[in-house]
Amino acid sequence: MTDTAASTPITIALSKGRIFDETLPLLAAAGIVPQGDPETSRELIIATNRPDVRVVIVRATDAPTYVQYGAADLGVAGKDVLIEHGGAGLYQPLDLKIACCRMMVAAPEDFDYAQAVHQGARLKVATKYVRTAREHFAAKGVHVDLIKLYGSMELAPLAGLADAIVDLVSTGGTLRANRLVAVEEIMPISSRLIVNQASLKLKRERLSPILEAFSRAVRR
Ligand code: ATP
Ligand code: MG
Repeated sequence: MTDTAASTPITIALSKGRIFDETLPLLAAAGIVPQGDPETSRELIIATNRPDVRVVIVRATDAPTYVQYGAADLGVAGKDVLIEHGGAGLYQPLDLKIACCRMMVAAPEDFDYAQAVHQGARLKVATKYVRTAREHFAAKGVHVDLIKLYGSMELAPLAGLADAIVDLVSTGGTLRANRLVAVEEIMPISSRLIVNQASLKLKRERLSPILEAFSRAVRR
């Protein structure tokens, strides 16, 4: 198929911080070098060395939405974010193996989580990841009242809002600092390449080499 959308740029949605930083080497492998740094610039649209490729800086949770609606052709999003989004309208061709961490259940050191589960207690669980948490506890047959938070989940048990939390853990330092312990792993998390389904057809000639370069760079 010819590139009927040849005149429109290729737009890549990235969040600043670890995803932007860890995607840079993959972009470089595809010959794409952003010309700005989102940490030091307030510009939300960053040009690249290629006149037909640009990067838009979005909140991590918004990357799937930009790609779903075609405002971005490509993006990078954590599996955690993709599960909560649902994945409608997205191809997820590649696990980029970046921004790796684990989705965990954590509770105060002095809370006997295993015993509570064993006794069939109804647990109050605070989390940003409501869908992930709901599916996890439903599969275990554990009854939970889920409390949606938007950040600082570690505070919830300390303040008496919840018995436990579901959150991302990498080193465990934040949990330790708040006298919490990880009591159960829900799943390992890494970031994926996401592609708008229509873009893949309309811009295939320009997108395929980028996807292939990413794929080769990940396998190295
Ligand atoms: P913000 O920190 O701006 O509130 P956010 O937490 O959604 O937003 P990031 O902290 O940039 O965004 O996280 C982006 C992605 O990186 C997450 O969706 C997750 O997949 C992954 N991630 C989050 N925390 C960690 C961590 N501690 N270690 C490794 N990867 C992580
Ligand atoms: Mg964060």
